[in-house]
Amino acid sequence: MTQVRVRFAPSPTGPLHIGGVRTALYNFLFAKKLGGTFILRIEDTDQGRFVEGAEEYIMEALEWCGITVDEGIAEGGKYGPYRQSDRKAIYRQYADMLIDKGHAYYAFDTPEQLDTLRSESEKSGNTFIYNAAVREKMINSVTLDEKVWKEKLVGGEPYVIRYRMPLSDDIHFNDIIRGDIVVNSATLDDKVLFKSDGMPTYHLANIVDDHLMEISHVIRGEEWLPSLPLHIMLYRSFGWDPPLFAHLPLLLKPDGKGKLSKRDGDKMGFPVFPIFWPFGETAKGYREEGYYPEAFVNMLALLGWNPGTEQELFSMKELIEAFSIDRVGKSGSRFDPEKAKWFNHQYLQKRTNTQLSLEFREFLRAHGYHIDVVRLDILTGLVKERVSFVREIWDQTDFFFKAPDTYDPEVIKKRWKENSAALLLELKSVLEEAKDFSSAGTETAVKGWIAEKGYDTGIIMNAFRLVIVGASRGPHIFDIISWIGKDETLKRITKGASVIGK
Ligand code: GLU
Repeated sequence: MTQVRVRFAPSPTGPLHIGGVRTALYNFLFAKKLGGTFILRIEDTDQGRFVEGAEEYIMEALEWCGITVDEGIAEGGKYGPYRQSDRKAIYRQYADMLIDKGHAYYAFDTPEQLDTLRSESEKSGNTFIYNAAVREKMINSVTLDEKVWKEKLVGGEPYVIRYRMPLSDDIHFNDIIRGDIVVNSATLDDKVLFKSDGMPTYHLANIVDDHLMEISHVIRGEEWLPSLPLHIMLYRSFGWDPPLFAHLPLLLKPDGKGKLSKRDGDKMGFPVFPIFWPFGETAKGYREEGYYPEAFVNMLALLGWNPGTEQELFSMKELIEAFSIDRVGKSGSRFDPEKAKWFNHQYLQKRTNTQLSLEFREFLRAHGYHIDVVRLDILTGLVKERVSFVREIWDQTDFFFKAPDTYDPEVIKKRWKENSAALLLELKSVLEEAKDFSSAGTETAVKGWIAEKGYDTGIIMNAFRLVIVGASRGPHIFDIISWIGKDETLKRITKGASVIGK
């Protein structure tokens, strides 16, 4: 088998959509499974759409995902440069080669002429396509005498180079995911290959680079399928063997109706980008939302590919082993934000308490609390099963770090009795006396006192939790007080008993 060489070829026009990350991931998995090479090529021939920072964003996002690049602008490689604007000098000769072979031509149409044609065909109810019939009516190197068009070139008249699409040819090709496809060239237009600004268009640069970089498989989004007949024609015109193609199905909105967009994410509160996009109209990222890259990658891998088993959790290594392009479906995959959270929950459960405590310690530091990891271990152990993100540990444990500043009015209404404050002050003396302030120690002391006095356990425990936590939530109350310690416990009781119900 030929050496597997695949490329991910984004255009740096903004943040990378998670659909793009999935394309990169499938290319990467495919290459690694077959001992091949994964290339990152930046396609920036459309200078008008170039966005500052996008290239760095793409590289950082891939790195965060653990998608390592073998050849690229940062890594180098013997097929470079890997940024198309740095390859500018390469493309012209290939456009010329097509002109020499009669597969392309110089077109001198002005924007005004094209606008007129477009509005004429719209008036007659047709969509304008620049095909062989149009070509015959226009000013170009096909319709003009050689001497005339050469004079125009020498005279510096602006032109573009267009592909000369055959009038009516059946173009047969194959897509690994979609099978055999036939398209008649009558439905295709004479695409611009080389622009008046001296830059190639996407189509020319893409084919030339895939050929020069010896790409064996082109795995890309379904939105490029309509370009495939032209690409196949270009390979034929050059006399080159095309690579194999696989067009990946779309990532769909959660309701399955149409392509997943940033708007869907904004509306439903989930990111559609891997990492935060800091420029212009900023956008949320999975990284900053607290997702583990392993969870994010695992979730993405299963959006379109299925392993053929019930297994859902895959490390990158396992994905590489299991991946096969034959198991990528034809139809779009619906994005499910709840499933994304589920994946993170699963990966969080796999963390040891200590790993989690270290991560939580970072979170606390950022919020001004400096707590020993050993102490945090106890907390993370207590709430781990209930959380999907490190930040949610805080939501479950905030009262360990700070006394409540409000008390839940619903709980007060239902559970605070006339004698609650007096009972709490008695409880305070019991705890003050306690020699053993461990969870078990305080529990024994408090329960012993309740039994001895014949008090109502419910009234006391509800009031106790309310002054310590501020609400009726949280783990075992004696675990809480042993963690916060005697002084803090007594302070919270004193404060609560004096303000609640007043
Ligand atoms: N530059 C194209 C893009 O932005 C690449 C398409 C392809 O992979 O051929 O997606």
